[in-house]
Amino acid sequence: MADPIYLDYNATTPVAPEVVEAMLPFLREHFGNPSSAHPYGARAAKAIAQARRELAGLLGAQSEEIVFTGCATEANNLALRGVAQALRHKGRHIVTSSIEHPSVATPLQWLRSEGWDVTALPVDKFGCVLPENLKRALRDDTVLVSIMHANNEVGTIEPIAEFAAIAHARGALFHADAAQSVGKIPVDAGALGVDLLTVAGHKLYAPKGIGALYVRRGTPLHPVLMGAGQEGGLRPGTENVPHIVALGAAADLARRRLPEFAHRVRALRDRLHARLTEGFPELQLHGHPQHRLPNTLHVSFPGLDGRRLLDEAPEIAASVGSACHEGGEAVSGVLAAMALSDSEARGAVRLSLGIPTKEDDIDRAAALLIRAARGLQRR
Ligand code: PLP
Repeated sequence: MADPIYLDYNATTPVAPEVVEAMLPFLREHFGNPSSAHPYGARAAKAIAQARRELAGLLGAQSEEIVFTGCATEANNLALRGVAQALRHKGRHIVTSSIEHPSVATPLQWLRSEGWDVTALPVDKFGCVLPENLKRALRDDTVLVSIMHANNEVGTIEPIAEFAAIAHARGALFHADAAQSVGKIPVDAGALGVDLLTVAGHKLYAPKGIGALYVRRGTPLHPVLMGAGQEGGLRPGTENVPHIVALGAAADLARRRLPEFAHRVRALRDRLHARLTEGFPELQLHGHPQHRLPNTLHVSFPGLDGRRLLDEAPEIAASVGSACHEGGEAVSGVLAAMALSDSEARGAVRLSLGIPTKEDDIDRAAALLIRAARGLQRR
């Protein structure tokens, strides 16, 4: 059987050919340790400096505001635990949303066990946090607000610039997990006004095992790992040069081609939505109808089970809207926070498109899903 049609780009992307080309010399011949004071080291250090400029260029940041990490999970941990450690004498209250990725929610859960007070704001039916709820939650002892830029499941984009301004007006720092938005929509950390912003390499056509944290100059932050002084002391450990080079190349590619990518992917995503609605008029869209990632289509087939639907269409590789836990299927926390009924949530599938997606993939995927849905209804 041919490879299934890949519609799971929010889970991970392939590595772009340009990115592979950029990193290969640093796997093959340029193996130096960037801290070494000889030409091998200097070459590696120069490549890292270039990658830092490239990522800073994509994010509207200064090079020295970029800290490379091992993944987005690590960047989120560094932001949350690093600020908590640095500001623990100022206050012990953090505000977040109820739809964060586990790499934000779990460190915050841990901080709770360490005596921190964490307020998780609700979302509306589109997955949006309301600015008035954020204003109400802020207190004199709030040191940090962490709200994701775009949601990984439904794709809803939060008004981060407005939230950062609200947080700053009450003296709190603002962190945005932008793992899903960087490379899909313009993300300018300076214009957004955030203090900290998380990047995931493997969601923007770089390999897995590389991420970054934007740290606005002057932001109080303690390292989570202790060691030597790499990455300004914030992320000690000998740098992963090939992957850092890859993230720089992916950022450069995104900076040059993002408007074209976004336009094309949005048109394909809307075509998929239209095809599915033609064949299955009961289809329900989840996430914000407009303020949503251009590649993400999260829909439910009411009365059907998303997992069974995808099982019936093995020619498609996508995700379901529920998470599998020991002892059965649980409704995703994001969908529950958006107050979807159990049956709507169980019927949900997440179809996420990417740069390699073709029109033919979309038309075939739509036909296969409609056939599978109608087949399940007849049973
Ligand atoms: N944040 C969001 C919104 C994500 O979607 C993901 C990955 O799915 C992460 C953080 C964590 O990324 P990684 O697993 O690469 O650390």
